[in-house]
Amino acid sequence: MSDLADDANRAAAHDLNVSLVRSQKAVPEIVANGYCHNCGHPVPDKRRWCDADCCDEWLEEGWLNGH
Ligand SMILES: [Zn+2]
Repeated sequence: MSDLADDANRAAAHDLNVSLVRSQKAVPEIVANGYCHNCGHPVPDKRRWCDADCCDEWLEEGWLNGH
């Protein structure tokens, strides 16, 4: 119902994608450190990105393009 729940679901789906990508592209273990890996913004819980968009950006501009 809420946008927040939608975002959480999308983020979870992207976390799943990261696991798949990691297994296929040998992406090193991505550790949640309290900050978004894409933009450096503090994030709650054990998340590694602010949202699905940051996750997308990080993957597309990082590991999927030659790292
Ligand atoms: Zn971010």
